[in-house]
Amino acid sequence: MAIWNLGSINVDTVFSLPHMPSPGETLSSTARNVFLGGKGTNMSVAAARAAAIVHHIGAVGDDGEWTVDRLMEYGVDTRFIARVDEDTAQAMIMVDPKGENIVILHPGANVAIPQAILQEAMAEAQTGDWLLIQNETNLQRTAATLGKQMGLQVAYAAAPFDADRVKAVLPYLNLLFLNAVEAAQLEQATGKRPQDLGVRDVIITLGGDGADWFGPEGHRHFDAVPVTPVDTTGAGDTFTGYVLAGLDRGHPMAQAINLATRAAALMVTRHGTADVIPDLKELEDFRP
Ligand code: ADP
Repeated sequence: MAIWNLGSINVDTVFSLPHMPSPGETLSSTARNVFLGGKGTNMSVAAARAAAIVHHIGAVGDDGEWTVDRLMEYGVDTRFIARVDEDTAQAMIMVDPKGENIVILHPGANVAIPQAILQEAMAEAQTGDWLLIQNETNLQRTAATLGKQMGLQVAYAAAPFDADRVKAVLPYLNLLFLNAVEAAQLEQATGKRPQDLGVRDVIITLGGDGADWFGPEGHRHFDAVPVTPVDTTGAGDTFTGYVLAGLDRGHPMAQAINLATRAAALMVTRHGTADVIPDLKELEDFRP
């Protein structure tokens, strides 16, 4: 079995600033750090670290070759990452000494993924594989439709939230991931609770309060692992990647969520995103 992830690939540039700039102000940064990021990338890396076979479907520009190399180093299949005539997606993140941040996102190549590369990938997919999608790329609905037609199981992390995009893919989903804010937004947009929208499995993550799973046998709550968080960026992506990897390896949902909960807890004790997502060995040694 394998996971096919139609996902974003971002270059995250973090500028540390003495204070947030005002309009018209020129400000020197005290540090600049460049990281591999994007929800799609984080999820691919998390699933690969959880020992799944992961094929990333996406796009980068001329400036993104290093991001593809890095994904490959992390064990992700990069054959279905197209090179397109756009900039690789960029997130410019400004952080002040209090840890407040402002993020400017340039979607670039993430929203110029050619349909042909998706079709090439789907031609290699097998019945029963998982297709994972989020909202940082184009082609979500096309992918969900194609995936369903080919007998793949379709999972969707509804982030960043967009009501129309969620509604467009709902009929094709086997599994829906939401955080608490997205769950409330979806309920407002549809007038129904997420678990009443006809998707077989719905997982709502609740930060330090854990996660709720609504499945065929009803509702089950999973407590978070108590840790002292230093950076919660990427917690949800790590959780999603681990759940899918567990399911892809044939584990029951509860077992997949339990491991994902441990992976996400270890993740929030670390600074950074894709580069610091824990692997299975680190989780074995994790004694919170
Ligand atoms: P997102 O990052 O998508 O907003 P959440 O904040 O809900 O997602 O976090 C996803 C998962 O990460 C949670 O279900 C939980 O298992 C874990 N997690 C998040 N914050 C903490 C925390 N402070 N302590 C322990 N685990 C956490």
